[in-house]
Amino acid sequence: SAKAAGSNQWAFFKPQMTERASVRLRTEASLHDALENNEFILHFQPKLDIETGAVVGCEALIRWQKDGRLISPASFIPVAEETGMIIQIGQWVVEQSCKTIKDWKTRYNFSVPIAINVSSQQFLDASLVPDIKQAALRYQVAPQSLEIEITETSLMNDIESAIIKLQQLKSAGFGIAVDDFGTGYSSLSYLRRLPISTMKIDRGFVSDLPEESAIASTILMLGKQLDLNIVAEGVENEQQLAWLQNQGCQIGQGFYFSKPLPIESFEAKYIAPNRNTIKTSS
Ligand code: C2E
Ligand code: MG
Ligand code: MG
Ligand code: MG
Repeated sequence: SAKAAGSNQWAFFKPQMTERASVRLRTEASLHDALENNEFILHFQPKLDIETGAVVGCEALIRWQKDGRLISPASFIPVAEETGMIIQIGQWVVEQSCKTIKDWKTRYNFSVPIAINVSSQQFLDASLVPDIKQAALRYQVAPQSLEIEITETSLMNDIESAIIKLQQLKSAGFGIAVDDFGTGYSSLSYLRRLPISTMKIDRGFVSDLPEESAIASTILMLGKQLDLNIVAEGVENEQQLAWLQNQGCQIGQGFYFSKPLPIESFEAKYIAPNRNTIKTSS
């Protein structure tokens, strides 16, 4: 124990641990307040058909609007995971996404799927699948309009229960994508058993293109063999796009097309311009 290792260890470790615990508690409290005060917002990034340029989907990405600044999920999702606040935040994301799907359908007759991110703790939570189903029912949203993105690492935590959960989501009609594919430790034999519809090539491999293409080629080949849709994440330039087009990758997402946008900008750029005629002529 620390005590056995010398009495000065206490003096050294205790204040640090207390400090860390109190930072954690403060952040947990402020994440809770953030939910109550409606400080979370979703930005939307389009996914485009690489051949036609059509918007075939979008990804909802959370941000925290705090004191006039936008805080990135990379800095609060890990704390939310650690403190358990991710469950409530995740429920808010599901709710907000279903509301948006319903709203876009009603106002614009626009119905490309919205993808939401589900992190490991959320995926382990027993109420995830019922929560998603209930939200879809409540907003009269077709399950095909909602896609769930789960990282490879979350799926591999407990493969047998992951398979069961994915089957429940799939049989209810929701789309399932493996996020950041290639960065985790997927067993290829399990991959075949996972009822997924899409693999997203991690941005790290896309940024290596076109010079270093071994991994991206292999993932594309694997996707083709397993009959999955492939999305290339983090497409940033023309050269990467040309390579992906040449290799038959169907869908792209990245700054080259668009950054994640506030909802009003997403609507103005990708929905309203194509729908005005429908709205005004009816
Ligand atoms: P992700 O799901 O892999 O999302 C892609 C991230 O890459 C996003 O960062 C996006 O803004 C960024 N990105 C997209 N295109 C490009 C590009 O061309 N270049 C570069 N450099 N980056 C690009 P973001 O929005 O900061 O999100 C980071 C991560 O936070 C997400 O990674 C996801 O794991 C997590 N996250 C975001 N929203 C949620 C959420 O609602 N719930 C949960 N549980 N996690 C979320
Ligand atoms: Mg994602
Ligand atoms: Mg990703
Ligand atoms: Mg990621």
